[in-house]
Amino acid sequence: MTALVNPGLAEELERSDEFNADACMNCGVCSAICPMGVDVQPRKLFRYVLLGMEDRVKAEVEPVFSCLLCKMCEENCPSGVHIAENVRTLRHHIVRTVFGIGRG
Ligand code: SF4
Ligand code: SF4
Repeated sequence: MTALVNPGLAEELERSDEFNADACMNCGVCSAICPMGVDVQPRKLFRYVLLGMEDRVKAEVEPVFSCLLCKMCEENCPSGVHIAENVRTLRHHIVRTVFGIGRG
């Protein structure tokens, strides 16, 4: 897999007021509590965003769309990360950049 880095990715996604992946301290509580198990790993997704690893984000189509947006993780997140909204933002990004749907 190529490691194409987009250093502006987090800034681009943060245009959504709710997007706050940078608040994640990578504790793993969300992964432990998620009813989807290891299929959805918010902390991994957010780390990719913060590191500008756009290719990795785009490769996470299945996990991103497997999220139930149930917010069980969010209610237990010690950092107040808007996990469900962040995942929703990543969905929009993938739909636009991978599937070419929506605004360019
Ligand atoms: S529970 Fe919150 S702070 Fe901990 S890894 Fe998940 S998103 Fe990050
Ligand atoms: S909102 Fe998504 S990541 Fe969080 S617990 Fe529910 S299914 Fe898992």
